[in-house]
Amino acid sequence: MLEHLGRTIQEERLPAPDYGALAEKFRSIVGSEGVSAGGADRLATCRDYWPMGTLWFLEGKAPALPDLVVWPRSSSEVAAVLKLAAENNIPVTPYGEGSGALGGAVPLQGGIALDMKRMNRVLKLDRDNLMVTVEPGLNGSRYEEYLNRHGYTGGHFPQSLRCSTVGGWVACRAAGTFSTRYGKIEDMVVSLEAVLPDGKVIRGRKLPRTSTGPRVDHLFIGSEGTLGVITAITLRIWPYPEKRIYCSYTFETIERALEAIRRLVQAGARPAVVRLYDPAETAHHFPDCEAAAGRVILVLLFEGDAGIIAAEEQLAAKLAREEGGLAAGPEPVEHWLETRFNVGLASKLFRQGAVVDTIEVSTNWTNAAPLYHAMQKAILAVEGTALASGHYSHVYPEGAALYLTLVGFPAGDKREYYRRLWGAAMESCLSLGGAISHHHGVGLHRGLWMAQEHGKALEALRMIKEALDPQGIMNPGKLGLGEVKKWPE
Ligand SMILES: Cc1cc2nc3c(=O)[nH]c(=O)nc-3n(C[C@H](O)[C@H](O)[C@H](O)COP(=O)(O)OP(=O)(O)OC[C@H]3O[C@@H](n4cnc5c(N)ncnc54)[C@H](O)[C@@H]3O)c2cc1C
Repeated sequence: MLEHLGRTIQEERLPAPDYGALAEKFRSIVGSEGVSAGGADRLATCRDYWPMGTLWFLEGKAPALPDLVVWPRSSSEVAAVLKLAAENNIPVTPYGEGSGALGGAVPLQGGIALDMKRMNRVLKLDRDNLMVTVEPGLNGSRYEEYLNRHGYTGGHFPQSLRCSTVGGWVACRAAGTFSTRYGKIEDMVVSLEAVLPDGKVIRGRKLPRTSTGPRVDHLFIGSEGTLGVITAITLRIWPYPEKRIYCSYTFETIERALEAIRRLVQAGARPAVVRLYDPAETAHHFPDCEAAAGRVILVLLFEGDAGIIAAEEQLAAKLAREEGGLAAGPEPVEHWLETRFNVGLASKLFRQGAVVDTIEVSTNWTNAAPLYHAMQKAILAVEGTALASGHYSHVYPEGAALYLTLVGFPAGDKREYYRRLWGAAMESCLSLGGAISHHHGVGLHRGLWMAQEHGKALEALRMIKEALDPQGIMNPGKLGLGEVKKWPE
């Protein structure tokens, strides 16, 4: 799958391709400033946060390059661009802010990188119905800041809030750190507007619910650019919370803490933030918390109506006590809030020669602790691995997400190590019945395990893809859907 990747980066030697009349036609749609064949623009849109892409860049290689970068300003421009691309068999890869973790935005077959950042407006704030409609290229922080200024919150806070777009969230089926109260992106999307590969525009109805067959617009949630382009999103919003309560507890074991969380959510409480760290991450993230020494820490944040959250906090305290938890105060939550967007350590480690990655999976309560132990063991067994730590977050009445952080200093080839690392992690996850991804999506890399994850359902997904995109121009090679045609010579 990956052999043909890896052109050496020499920006000044990247010839600007001359597509003559075709490039002119794209310019006539989006304006001359909306098309670029410049080396810097092509390099800026050729990768995301997938660690393989980072490894290549550090070696002076680009994983793949788009031939043209196109910046549309409206859904009608997106429609015209896709129509022209389809007529000429040109691959199109939508690009948000490139924070995806699995290579989803890599323009595997060249063609067009469709950068959505000029479509970044708030189209409508509907106060009566608590909805907002935005364009997909709106930056996550800007989205939340806009809502806060008007007295609302969007309730979606991925760690990548500052470097991702609302369209990217929907395309990747994302989940934010406050998800236990507000839900994941699929719970927030009321309706979508999307452009199909032939240029047709579809629009879902902005109503609380419909029972009129499958929602075609919702098919785009998690489609990662393979079915078309999301051009407008209507989301649920909430009044800015009246009050917040912070509390934390330490436990002797992960098992006891998981039991407290399970009982809490199954009783109907919905803390906004629920995060349980294993011993290594407790020591790493909360070195100043004496109560956490040699134990695991659970961080809880409740927000919303003062009366409701007071009752939730009381229940949490009671259940934590019953499972041997010791109260550790609000400070660990304050510390988490202050540091939650810090991701600099990974870049430092990469420069020191490490391979760093994160893997997020989901599991039922019955398997929550065994999956952690099994995946950690499998990952540590891969030679060169220095760390496999984890935490649980995004909890549900039926289970939780498990998020593992991996650091390795392999002696030999880093790509080969990376392949073995992921192989071990995915195989152990699948063998214990876990889902191979909770919120980062599939992109290029996780496509390798999509058949094991989905079975026959992957064939059905391929049939939907083929029906909507018979030429296979949309984000070829992603979601494990298979290879498609190339940009014509
Ligand atoms: C440090 C860090 C922390 C992260 N934390 C979280 C987290 O807490 N929760 C979480 O869910 N994820 C997280 N992620 C993953 C990533 O941020 C999300 O997947 C995000 O949703 C991607 O948004 P983006 O705008 O950067 O999209 P990109 O990376 O640019 O694109 C992602 C995919 O979506 C497609 N796409 C983008 N825009 C559109 C569109 N308008 N129409 C159709 N397809 C489109 C692209 O083709 C690509 O396949 C994190 C990533 C990093 C690097």
